Amino acid sequence: MSSQSDSPSDQRDAMQQRHEEAANEVLPEHTDPYIGGDFTAVAGEETFETIDPTTGEVLASVGRGREADIDRAVEAAWSAFEGTWSEYGAGRRQRVLTAIAETIDEHADELARLETLDNGKPVSEATIDVRGTAEQFRYFAGLVRGDSGETMAEGSRYGQVIEEPYGVVGQIVPWNFPLLITSWKLAPALAAGNCSVLKPAEQTPLSVLRLAELVDDVVPNGVINIVPGYGEEAGAALTGHPDVRKVAFTGSTAVGKQVMKSAAEHVTDVTLELGGKSPVVVFPDVDTRKAVALVSSAIFYNTGECCEAGSRLFVHEDVADDVLDGLVAAIDDMTIGDPLDEETDLGPKVSGEQVERTMEYLEQAQDEGGQFLAGGDRPDDEALAGGCFVEPTLIEGLDHDSGAVQEEIFGPVLDVFRWEDYDEMIELANDVEYGLAGGVISEDITQANRAARDIEAGYIWINSYHDLVPGLPFGGYKQSGIGRELSADTLDHYRQTKTINLSLR
Ligand code: NDP
Repeated sequence: MSSQSDSPSDQRDAMQQRHEEAANEVLPEHTDPYIGGDFTAVAGEETFETIDPTTGEVLASVGRGREADIDRAVEAAWSAFEGTWSEYGAGRRQRVLTAIAETIDEHADELARLETLDNGKPVSEATIDVRGTAEQFRYFAGLVRGDSGETMAEGSRYGQVIEEPYGVVGQIVPWNFPLLITSWKLAPALAAGNCSVLKPAEQTPLSVLRLAELVDDVVPNGVINIVPGYGEEAGAALTGHPDVRKVAFTGSTAVGKQVMKSAAEHVTDVTLELGGKSPVVVFPDVDTRKAVALVSSAIFYNTGECCEAGSRLFVHEDVADDVLDGLVAAIDDMTIGDPLDEETDLGPKVSGEQVERTMEYLEQAQDEGGQFLAGGDRPDDEALAGGCFVEPTLIEGLDHDSGAVQEEIFGPVLDVFRWEDYDEMIELANDVEYGLAGGVISEDITQANRAARDIEAGYIWINSYHDLVPGLPFGGYKQSGIGRELSADTLDHYRQTKTINLSLR
């Protein structure tokens, strides 16, 4: 371990060495697509590199899947569906899902460290992701046994309503929660009786490939297929594939629209979990210490790379100075650094491209008269110079129409607005194209509930944030998406209804 007295270059070397050692321990053995139960080289024989955003070093070269590989994976998935998986009853599917959850638990530490290497998130947060990943499989394993069909006997008519799986579904996952969002996709799809072809994000394919290695023994061949690659190649081939009967996507709203268009070609059903620009409303009756902790976690958790991040703060004028002073102090106290260190609060962003994107928004905010109460730049710490770090940032004074307020920055940047008039505040809170989530902080539950009802969004937390539990549906209003994940409804997104109307006459 390096110490405070080490020079920045010594600290950087020590961090690099720690990451190399961790990589040697946890990288997957295979980095080619996982198709039909085997890791096989991509048809085009090309690879792309995945980078550790903390050190800038290459972690692995990964097979660059394209259309031919997607075709192969879809074929393998259909073959598994027709040959094996469709014969599995709910009980056997439940056992498979439970076995996946147990396997994840057994390898939790290794998976968390791998996620940290590939994504840059603090290992303490990656550990929470891995726990949540296992929980998804467990939740859907439980649900699948509670399912029964409906019947209607009326006169000489006997009707049955049954839910059937689509067969093969295509699933596309982003880089902010690679493993966790993979479970949000795979667990309900498999529980409902489908086989999956899943494409991880190009920045973070490793934990998903490692998961495939780990569950190879417990899942029949071809039920899960993983094809890493670029969005415009492997992703587009999957969403427009004529034999994929359902597409589920998490990512940006811009790409979500393309996915919808591409799926429209074959009238394929879609579920979309897209961007957000969520408001957090602070009422004057709060305990400011608690409010500061909640607001800080709402925006800075996972380095602000959360679709539900609370990135616009509406704080009542009566407590605004106290809350903002508290936030500045909380930012000062944050440990920014090596995400493999358990004490780290804020790791690097996922990639250099994402740093540039955030910095462009910060420059725009500066040009438009934003006052930076904290942050606003890359950290002035030479030890972190090789990584994709950005300071946690608080900006006040921007017009609500500004790009930095309206658009998803996906970084540790909070726009602050003071309010006095409730109706004006709610109008601004709703004045974005997104409607994924929101937060309300107040001791007065009637008042908090009214605000929760008035905010146009699919998920509102009162006096908490980021608390996503299986059983409570998650998904967006407006341009934040279509469909809900994490709940019993999700099973229905992966099934189609068949009615059999039998005449007994
Ligand atoms: P994207 O929406 O581009 O990526 C999400 C996933 O979609 C990735 O697996 C990506 O592949 C894939 N993809 C990209 N293009 C296509 C396509 N034409 N057809 C099918 N799949 C495609 O997000 P980015 O990684 O580019 O991030 C950009 C911004 O998106 C972020 O800054 C953030 O604002 C937002 N975002 C929102 C997320 C959310 O959870 N709401 C998650 C991630 C990003 P590939 O990795 O190869 O590009």
